[in-house]
Amino acid sequence: MPADQPTPIFRNQEELSRLAASDRIRYRLVGAKCRYHANDNIARFIADGEIEELQAEVEAKMQDVLRSLVIDTESDHNTQDTARRVAKMYLTEVFRGRYIPLPAITEFPNIEHLNELMIVGPITVRSACSHHLCPIMGKVWVGVMPNEHSNLIGLSKYVRLCDWVMSRPQIQEEAVTRLADLLQSRMQPDGLAVVMEADHFCMQWRGVKDTDSKMINSVMRGSFLKDANLRREFLSLLSRKNA
Ligand SMILES: [Zn+2]
Repeated sequence: MPADQPTPIFRNQEELSRLAASDRIRYRLVGAKCRYHANDNIARFIADGEIEELQAEVEAKMQDVLRSLVIDTESDHNTQDTARRVAKMYLTEVFRGRYIPLPAITEFPNIEHLNELMIVGPITVRSACSHHLCPIMGKVWVGVMPNEHSNLIGLSKYVRLCDWVMSRPQIQEEAVTRLADLLQSRMQPDGLAVVMEADHFCMQWRGVKDTDSKMINSVMRGSFLKDANLRREFLSLLSRKNA
């Protein structure tokens, strides 16, 4: 077994407390046979105070990265605090969707029995690609076709759920599917459509340096899949709003 893999033997609390926070959390994840890919949420395996420990750990390693990039962080005042800033940005801002629990969302019953197409968007998306950790900046539109048994959620809640899914390293196809799964499970609508359009900074900043290319992805479920007219109505309303 490679040295960086956690050993499957039982560790007691005292042994665990001597481990680095990331090893402790990984130990719990492996014990629960829980996946921890870049776009997985691992909040329930993190104990109080461990986010701060993770931040300190990432800061120390980021300092080593700067050292290996041969940047003189001692005399270069611009980079003196960079390792700390980057660690904080990763854990509490741009990747926080991995580390914080699902935001509390109240659904309310569809008392008015709304059964007309609802469109929410554009919702601003800030994410990162899991290949290069480069930003992905874009917009999401959600189409919902409720039925009388659907739960509805307030407009601002779409933004919070979207942000929770997006603030993780991932690829766009998986991000859109994750968001659709989450909305589907909360609302149980007859139809659900999610469209995401985004700039990928790994295309613009590096690689082919194509500054104009955008990637568009969509997920259609239920009545949006079966009913071509509904799908057309949704997409035409989007293109009108986009113009
Ligand atoms: Zn990339």
